[in-house]
Amino acid sequence: MNKVELAKIKEKALEEHIPIIMDDTLEVIENILKENKPSRILEIGTAVGYSAICFTEFLNEDGMIDTIEREEDRVKEARENIKKAEVESMINIIEGDAVEVLPTMNGMYDVVFIDASKGKYPFFLKEALRMLKTNGIIFADNVLYKGYVLSDYNKHKQRTAVRNLREFLAELESNTELETEILEVGDGLAIAKKIR
Ligand code: SAH
Ligand code: MG
Repeated sequence: MNKVELAKIKEKALEEHIPIIMDDTLEVIENILKENKPSRILEIGTAVGYSAICFTEFLNEDGMIDTIEREEDRVKEARENIKKAEVESMINIIEGDAVEVLPTMNGMYDVVFIDASKGKYPFFLKEALRMLKTNGIIFADNVLYKGYVLSDYNKHKQRTAVRNLREFLAELESNTELETEILEVGDGLAIAKKIR
């Protein structure tokens, strides 16, 4: 991977207020990937490819990341970025709405990274679980959503997102196939391991 290009991609994304993964969140995920060396990663929410490019470093030999993005302009920029970062052979960008794309997918994954529309997290979880290998891990970003999710504040205009994030966390915690941790890094990170 070309780290000089990666640094430029990050800088540009931050300048343009694209919500790329925060450094502390990335560090937690990378430390886990380092130990697990996944072969197949599914990412929901590519944006301009920053997190996917970062993850390539921890892929097993011949590993592959499938990543879904619905905004045409972002897909275009992500394709340019993965070329610049010299990781084209490791990232497959799927253009489309994950709500429509996921049900058509059938692969099995070692890792699923959920990082798209918060109102859809319960649906993304259902699809992720269907395609997650035993011992596989789901990471979900932004699950505490600026603290709204754990507070009793309900009047925020994003209350549908907050309600669905609460539902998502409740499902993670009640699912006996999963061992779940919620970390307060960044905007909140859920880590759920499929233990059976
Ligand atoms: N993972 C990226 C950041 C993703 S930001 C990184 O850390 O570098 C979230 C992205 O998800 C946005 O680009 C948004 O367009 C996309 N998105 C949101 N809802 C989506 C959906 N239902 N299907 C596909 N992409 C979606
Ligand atoms: Mg995010």
